[in-house]
Amino acid sequence: MTNKKYEDHFIHRPLIEGTDIKHRIVMQGSKHHFGGLFQYYWLRWNCITKPVSMAEPHTHEFDEIFHFFGADPSDISDFQAVVELTMGEELEIYPITEPMIVYIPKGLVHAPINCKIINKPIIFMNVANTSEYVEKRWES
Ligand SMILES: [Zn+2]
Repeated sequence: MTNKKYEDHFIHRPLIEGTDIKHRIVMQGSKHHFGGLFQYYWLRWNCITKPVSMAEPHTHEFDEIFHFFGADPSDISDFQAVVELTMGEELEIYPITEPMIVYIPKGLVHAPINCKIINKPIIFMNVANTSEYVEKRWES
């Protein structure tokens, strides 16, 4: 531990091991970090390198925003993947084939997020206005 004044502003290696992907970054506002400063901020950042289907249909009591973009840092517009996002009680499937942001309002059924074709790695980042990610599984 150092005695620098702003040392508590840094989160070192905020990585958790995944069962579906190698690592992800998770930032949960008030639950673990910065003394509750970002009370309703939750972020999860995933680098998708191979086909994987994430989550089952669910709802939650907070809004969520999905961000999809290419993982090549020199050109994040290079999106060589097909993600099928399921939304609504109708289980409509929306193909994502280019960088995209998707708004998931609270209460809306969504998922799975099926990363069906991954020709080059992509980033899937989701942000939610909650302090803790609690989902309710949805049964049709
Ligand atoms: Zn969700």
